[in-house]
Amino acid sequence: METIHLKSADPLSQAMLRSAALNGVELIWERAEKLQPQDGFLRLGLSCPYDCLLGPCRIDPFGQGADKGICGLDRDSMVAATLYRLCHRGLLETLNIVPAAARDLENTCPVKVKDLANQVLGSHGLPPLSGSSLLDTVLRTAQGPMNHEKLLLGALHLSLLNLVLAGSSQRGEHPGFGACSAGYGVINGDSACIGFCGTPSPELVRALHRQTVGAQTETAHLVALGAWIPGDGGYLPLACSSGASELLLSSGAVNLVVAGLDADPALFQLCRRLNIPAVTGTAEASAMEILQTACSRHKQSSRPQLFSDVPPARDFTVHSSGKSPSGLVSRKQSGRVGLICGSDMPHMTMGKISQELSAALNNDGMILGGWGDACWWIMNHEQDPSFVAFDPLTGPLLAVLDLVEAGGFDRLDGICYTGLKRCREFATALGLAFLGCRVSIAVPIPILGSREVCRSLSEKLRVSGGELVHFDHPAETEELTAWFANR
Ligand code: SF4
Repeated sequence: METIHLKSADPLSQAMLRSAALNGVELIWERAEKLQPQDGFLRLGLSCPYDCLLGPCRIDPFGQGADKGICGLDRDSMVAATLYRLCHRGLLETLNIVPAAARDLENTCPVKVKDLANQVLGSHGLPPLSGSSLLDTVLRTAQGPMNHEKLLLGALHLSLLNLVLAGSSQRGEHPGFGACSAGYGVINGDSACIGFCGTPSPELVRALHRQTVGAQTETAHLVALGAWIPGDGGYLPLACSSGASELLLSSGAVNLVVAGLDADPALFQLCRRLNIPAVTGTAEASAMEILQTACSRHKQSSRPQLFSDVPPARDFTVHSSGKSPSGLVSRKQSGRVGLICGSDMPHMTMGKISQELSAALNNDGMILGGWGDACWWIMNHEQDPSFVAFDPLTGPLLAVLDLVEAGGFDRLDGICYTGLKRCREFATALGLAFLGCRVSIAVPIPILGSREVCRSLSEKLRVSGGELVHFDHPAETEELTAWFANR
């Protein structure tokens, strides 16, 4: 209990943490603590990623033990292969969410971004953007006698393809933007609450929306648990960040969970433990049955005391595609731009860096925007009413397009990832840096095992004016504000 303030900066989250601890409910933080220390070789990129059966091979970071894998793979190649694997995995994750977007990539990508991407790819001797080059790249494995330079270039290629693929996909029914609201205040008291996590089928979300809107007697409100889910007419109200989704479930505020692709197994386990019905979010699931089950659960339960006095949710617009400008920057407007994004991580205090960083940059008069959990915490805190929210999947490319339309990256002071969860998030961050953006990541990434890889990566990013700064420890807000100021 004495570490509650280190888990979340938010008072209501802290109250939920106390309540979960009193009820003996194990959450993400307890699991993370039991797993310490996590694999140090892997954290440095020195655990071979190839999954061959001669392994696992690990290289000694201090140069006193093994300096090569059994097959002879050296330190630099092992670290570069780790980076390659992360980007490869990230691109596969994105393809899994938007399989159709790959088919026509060269035509769906906004022209100005495509020109810039092809310029960057060409300057490294890589093929221009196309659906077939994307599939070739995905199918090519990193196995074989590849040196670290080739692996690094391959990783950068994959990262850029991931950024463009995600950004060129269609989100929601209204191309361009959608209404959303964020905050624990979206949990209102008079009806059943159905929480969505992961990537549920859009058909099921639409069907449930129709059922709830059309219901005469029984109804429910639909909320997203950390996932940004397009629904009818906008995005589902965001009840919490991804890191707080278990916390919210433990509070008893959610009567039924719909878990789509990517949902953490812990959410199912917690639902079983707390006897909350959980269904898989596929198109085949019956919306009517889901609604009836949630309503019947709601009747048997009472609204948690913790929510008696929650501030109202904040309404805002989520920008999702280049078909409609986000207003982040325009030619007429002046001012420096900063983007804050990224996911909650259990060893970082939830909400702290994003809220402190946005306050500091806002005080400096910067134009701010962002996506992901960081955006949820900023919206929840109501520090900056002009903060521009982007869809986490398509938004990074849209932000790039806004900047390119306004004349390039000169006005961008930086893009800060306050934390990383999925590989596709890392691949997006690297893709942004490869395209020419200044990017920082507040947590360590697994390439510190090779100075040569770190050097060569920085050099390759510099060709297009990009930068990727990362830390060997979870960064403090002051380090990140200094990085923004150091442009
Ligand atoms: S270093 Fe070589 S032998 Fe060892 S696991 Fe990797 S690929 Fe296999």
